[in-house]
Amino acid sequence: MNVGIIGGGQLGWMMVLEGRKLGYGFNSIDSDFSKPGVRISDHGFTYPQYRDFVDSSDVVTYEFEHVDDRVLDYADSMGKLRPGMLPIRLKRDRSLEKEFLRDASLPVAPFTVVNSPEELRKASKEFDRSIAKSAMGGYDGKGQYPVSPGSIPEEMPEGKYVLEEFVDFSQEASVIASRDIHGKMAFHTASLNVNMKGMLVYNVAPFPDTGMKDVAMKLLEKLDYTGVMGIEFFIREGKPIINEFSPRVHNSGHHTLLGSTISQFEQHIRAIAGLPVPEPELLSASGIVNIIGRQISEELKNRILEIPGTQIYWYGKDNAKKRRKVGHVNVVASSAGEVKDRIDALIDIMYGGNILDFLEYS
Ligand code: AMP
Repeated sequence: MNVGIIGGGQLGWMMVLEGRKLGYGFNSIDSDFSKPGVRISDHGFTYPQYRDFVDSSDVVTYEFEHVDDRVLDYADSMGKLRPGMLPIRLKRDRSLEKEFLRDASLPVAPFTVVNSPEELRKASKEFDRSIAKSAMGGYDGKGQYPVSPGSIPEEMPEGKYVLEEFVDFSQEASVIASRDIHGKMAFHTASLNVNMKGMLVYNVAPFPDTGMKDVAMKLLEKLDYTGVMGIEFFIREGKPIINEFSPRVHNSGHHTLLGSTISQFEQHIRAIAGLPVPEPELLSASGIVNIIGRQISEELKNRILEIPGTQIYWYGKDNAKKRRKVGHVNVVASSAGEVKDRIDALIDIMYGGNILDFLEYS
């Protein structure tokens, strides 16, 4: 079987690393052939070759939402796209995603969709504190502006925004959920996620399921979903509120590469290929630290790998500018507390107490 992956980033790279175990071939399509997912694939295609890409793949998936429509539409018309078009349409416009979740009676923060600065000013008075999130193209906290009642952030470009209540959460957490071609679902153990400046810095599993799986189950069912989905939550007063979902493998599921019986990447490939997708078990307390905005030297590798229970995934990107994820370190230990201690040591080794400098917008 040949699996086609739309988008050539690190998520595709890890799908190939994990999916090769099953004996599959991999095609990848992207405009930039230097990306890790393209380099590791058996065949790389450019977007004008989208028909060849789809025709030579038995099943097609995506590792990023903002990709060329031609390839999505053609793969969909050939009945090969998994998950399908609906989740990607919702993800391309945050207002559609939020409205879909609200209409499905799933827990989301109160929000209003606004199309002009005047609408935003008016709507902002409904909240004590809110965040304006650009409807199009935002991820990793990009295109987000804190808003106080009756004001408009100065630096904010005009456009469509979702104005959302600021959630005073106690924690952020996520669940990696999967659904096979017959509709059977499975869930990786939830993780606690720590974001700074809108980016995931590290996460630790296990984290207690505070109702997240139930919400995830309803969402996958509603979308008639096939594959793996990452769902991020705010936990407020012990209850989950969906922040957003990603119709693909997710950064907060990378810990499953080392700590689970099945990684999220293998799980996704199994699900879209029609193989069994059993409930994955957490073998060990585990987590990751992202490597953001810095190159890695042999000396640094040595220092990281001296910490027991670690593995490095280096994506091989040449440009390590600020806010760019260039790799991650997997960490396992005998308890979540010990994983956190190891993560603290790794953050110190990689960022020397100045992590926020590596997360600055340039
Ligand atoms: P996003 O790109 O929407 O996932 O947002 C990135 C991060 O910004 C989240 O993980 C939170 O840490 C923070 N954030 C986003 N939306 C809200 C909100 N409504 N209330 C509080 N924090 C938020």
